[in-house]
Amino acid sequence: MIDLRSDTMTRPGAEMRAAMAAAEVGDDVWGEDPTVNALQEHLADMFGHEAALWMPTGSMANQAALHVLVKPGTEFLCDVDAHVVTYELGAAAAYAGATSRTFRSLSEVPGMIRLPGYPAVPTAAVVVENTHNHKGGTVIPLGELTALREAASAHSIAVHCDGARIWNAHVASGVPLATYGALFDTLSVCLSKGLGAPAGSVLIGSAERVARARVVRKRLGGGLRQAGILAAAGQYALGNIHRLAEDHARAARLAKAFGTSVETNIVALAVPDAAEAARLAAEQGVLIGVMAPSFVRLVTHYDLDDQAITRAIEVLTRLIPQQ
Ligand SMILES: *Cc1c(COP(=O)(O)O)cnc(C)c1O
Repeated sequence: MIDLRSDTMTRPGAEMRAAMAAAEVGDDVWGEDPTVNALQEHLADMFGHEAALWMPTGSMANQAALHVLVKPGTEFLCDVDAHVVTYELGAAAAYAGATSRTFRSLSEVPGMIRLPGYPAVPTAAVVVENTHNHKGGTVIPLGELTALREAASAHSIAVHCDGARIWNAHVASGVPLATYGALFDTLSVCLSKGLGAPAGSVLIGSAERVARARVVRKRLGGGLRQAGILAAAGQYALGNIHRLAEDHARAARLAKAFGTSVETNIVALAVPDAAEAARLAAEQGVLIGVMAPSFVRLVTHYDLDDQAITRAIEVLTRLIPQQ
């Protein structure tokens, strides 16, 4: 099977498994796992922040950030298709007690901010997603992020980056990770998408915020004991950052076959009947992601080589129209 449904489909190879087997471990709920601690320090340094916290999933990392940044009864702003309001199953309302309002363009944000003291829900935070999953792996231009940071700071509002694919943004744009880090109060980054670890995300921020997030993580049931086995996979996965350029090149080949283009590793395509296209493709050994009734996505990752892309193009160009 050629699996283009998601970059979460990668399986750990022999070297990553060897790194996991060799990991030195301790009880991470007690803060005593040396492999977890080293990974956390490494990621805090990479993004120029004080502290970091390993998390079992990106959803938990995003939700812990919202707990820390948004008091119950206040709101955060995010994109209409943001992962935090689309794919986290209402967690911000259920657990953080936060309400949300959504925008279509970052340029709307300054006009949406509500300050405390008005008879309206005050805005506590803005969430940005970089790259943007549902929009087809798009990279937010640095200038837009800088403008957002200025507007938020002017009103003492926090900015969280859902950076599940910040690595792809970094590789595609050349913007250093520390430059991204400096723009946000907190970031969540994923080790198990294109980087290929079997599990793990990391929340990055100030020592004070990360200490509070640690409490939230335990409360949500996310305190793992010898988590170093997974953190070792994450540490190994960081070596795959520059390899993402290959995924981007393969996604560009796929996009071109449909007369369109792509910025990173997610090709979004319109098709009259997405479910039917996916069914017919699967019959010929190609799995694609159905994102909406008339929208599919093709995601490249390290388990797919050039030959797999050639075969996928053969099959899919017969099922999905030129864009
Ligand atoms: C995958 C993803 C996450 C995290 O998802 P989990 O499955 O909870 O690890 C968060 N944000 C975005 C944009 C993602 O694509």
